[in-house]
Amino acid sequence: MADYYELLGVSKSATEDEIKKAYRKLARELHPDTNGGDAVAVERFKEVTIAYETLRDPEKRRQYDMFGDGGPRGQGSGDFFSPNFGDIFENIFGQAFGGGFGDGGGQRSARHGEDMETSINLKFEESVFGTKKEISIRLPVTCKTCVGSGSKPGTTPSVCRSCGGSGQVRRVTQTLLGRMMTTSTCDTCYGDGKIITTPCPDCRGEGRKTEERSYVIEIQPGIEDGATLRLTGKGPAGPRGGYPGNLYIHVHVEPSKTFKRSGQDLFAQFNISISQAALGTKLEFESLDELVEINVAPGTQSGKILRFKGKGVPNFGGRGRGDLLVELVVTTPKDLSEEEINLYTRLAEIRGEKISEPNEHGLFSKLKSAFR
Ligand SMILES: [Zn+2]
Ligand SMILES: [Zn+2]
Repeated sequence: MADYYELLGVSKSATEDEIKKAYRKLARELHPDTNGGDAVAVERFKEVTIAYETLRDPEKRRQYDMFGDGGPRGQGSGDFFSPNFGDIFENIFGQAFGGGFGDGGGQRSARHGEDMETSINLKFEESVFGTKKEISIRLPVTCKTCVGSGSKPGTTPSVCRSCGGSGQVRRVTQTLLGRMMTTSTCDTCYGDGKIITTPCPDCRGEGRKTEERSYVIEIQPGIEDGATLRLTGKGPAGPRGGYPGNLYIHVHVEPSKTFKRSGQDLFAQFNISISQAALGTKLEFESLDELVEINVAPGTQSGKILRFKGKGVPNFGGRGRGDLLVELVVTTPKDLSEEEINLYTRLAEIRGEKISEPNEHGLFSKLKSAFR
């Protein structure tokens, strides 16, 4: 590889700033996007990046000046860089291009806000037809005074001396496979690349403050109990202008007294009398959205299921609705009056059904009253 200083087009006595400027200029010219991925440009870009990685670090620059790119033990530069080259490349790339070129040297905080969870309760009907819910939650939001920077308005943070403003520190470690370069977040500035000299009095330099926020959440029809909604970027603000986290909302649906849900279908039971089951009738049942007619055919057996198409739960986020299934339950009367007993007895006689003798019935009543 050519001389690192020549690659960057700087003199041997260039300052750190000059090296940085030269690299940025070259990186912009050689960026694969501007060259349509031209192989020669990509290769040069890599070389320039390696040169910059070495010269930007005072210790590595000193070694390079003394020993050249082979390093003090004469190892090839390939060995030196290849184990972590992808990482380095990405870091440089991320900084140089993702971080905003020519943005006045400002470093953007890479620290994200954490994710947050909360829950809401819905009535059964709300879960079926959808609703809007307002939730209030206390969470860190961007400080208005410093607009998230953490610095008192009118003051400027200083560049972190430990990492030179990159937020990353690179260390060379000796391993069995040769020397490896590892990259880690700077301990001094926690990756910000800058040190706040005069903290914002409102947020004590955090760039965020805990406040109450309200969100109106649109609940789509058909949501199920136990579902989780994600509000992307509505979670806590990141420290010092970092991206906000997500807000996760767990949905609890109150069970219905009448309906049980199974997928998109609703299930309900409907009581009818023995006479209604035997003779047939038309009755009304209040489904979730309207009255439906229950047509009891003569001779209906307990457990018969009537299906009402499209009266179930809407498909969540889709079209169509499930069905309503109504089970007819034939109920046996209790506490019969004298007249009813006579009528049921007469009915049993006509049908030749064996029933308790009237005196047995009377005896049973007497026994019962004796134990009262
Ligand atoms: Zn502030
Ligand atoms: Zn630092």
